[in-house]
Amino acid sequence: MRNFGYTVAASPADAVRIAAGTPNSAFVAGGTDLLNLMRDGAQAHDHLVDLNHLDLGRIDMDGTSLRVGALARMRQVVEHPVVRREFPVLSQALLASASPQVRTMAAIGGNLLQRTRCGYFRDTGSGCNKRVPGSGCPAITGYNRGHAILDGSDHCIATHPSDLAVALTALDATVYLLGPDGVRTVPIADFYLLPGATPDRETVLRQGELITRVDVPRTGVATRSRYLKLRDRATFEFAVVSVAAALRMDGRTVRDVRLAFGGVGTRPWRDTRVEAALRGRELTTATMTAAGRALVSDAVPRDGNGFKVELVQRALVSVLSELGSVR
Ligand code: SF4
Repeated sequence: MRNFGYTVAASPADAVRIAAGTPNSAFVAGGTDLLNLMRDGAQAHDHLVDLNHLDLGRIDMDGTSLRVGALARMRQVVEHPVVRREFPVLSQALLASASPQVRTMAAIGGNLLQRTRCGYFRDTGSGCNKRVPGSGCPAITGYNRGHAILDGSDHCIATHPSDLAVALTALDATVYLLGPDGVRTVPIADFYLLPGATPDRETVLRQGELITRVDVPRTGVATRSRYLKLRDRATFEFAVVSVAAALRMDGRTVRDVRLAFGGVGTRPWRDTRVEAALRGRELTTATMTAAGRALVSDAVPRDGNGFKVELVQRALVSVLSELGSVR
């Protein structure tokens, strides 16, 4: 592991100032992903800015939104009574994400910025356009069982690993950023970039910009929500396919629905065509099946991941059937 500098930030503004003025720096909080990447040589930084003393760990709520500080730990969000009661999809996504030890350490901001689990990305003996731009994408013709079937490019087909990001995408969350030019907000649907020709750029974050909090609108639809994660083993594994769903019914008719998917797109996946296929209609096998077909209509499966086309449709029908018969 190569040497790096280290500074403990005294305030969010201090953190941003140091990071913006220090080339090849990175923020660190829980460090549960970053330090593994640095130790393995998949990511290298000359300087780390420690955020752990900043007052960015609060979870609170007003009449319009739930506000989760970027330094809140996964465990705190999972256990928060309001999150469990009004946003079960968030607590379920976090519970399905990691071991209790990791949930105790890992911060919400870092969870959103964790890197892909594509094996080639983490293997410095392989080419990988995301790790070394221009070095190729061996996953396209190689081992791609866990890779994306939606909106990959010739340069990268990796999925994003955050379950929380999928749930936040379904709920139209907003990411708050503090940078050298001040505060800005980004809808989470616009926060992650498609790979295109630059898969090394994963988010809209600029040099020195810090996630300070995430706001989730308190619309009521999330009280009836669920996160379904399908994975290769029951514990602490990344999603093969996942569905975050929130549903508001009027009798048998869907009044409102929010859906996002993990494991199928190159970023947490939201497709409003899928929701439009359900909204205002009776929740039947036929309408759920039609929504699933809309979801995969543009899918580009590879040799190893074609099974996801069927699996994600079945997962959607399963989670909607369960939510639709709750009351
Ligand atoms: Fe790298 Fe993306 Fe290709 Fe994986 S899919 S090898 S992360 S470029």
